[in-house]
Amino acid sequence: MTSGLADLQKSTGSPCLCERCGDVLDPDAAVWLEHDTMTGRYLAPGATPELSQGFFAFGEACAKKVLANGGQNKMIRRKAR
Ligand SMILES: [Zn+2]
Repeated sequence: MTSGLADLQKSTGSPCLCERCGDVLDPDAAVWLEHDTMTGRYLAPGATPELSQGFFAFGEACAKKVLANGGQNKMIRRKAR
């Protein structure tokens, strides 16, 4: 289901980073959540049909925490780029 997204990420040539902790992720293993522009929340793909800002990658553990937190992403660490 997410292979298309992973391929898209690979084609951009940019590293796939977790939106929450900044860890480098394997695009194939990342959990992709859809960002709702109106509420600023990250939701399961398809939950924001009209206001989606696009998909963002999270590590599995981080995605669970974001979803458990009502979709609010509190960045815990951001690596310098
Ligand atoms: Zn993370």
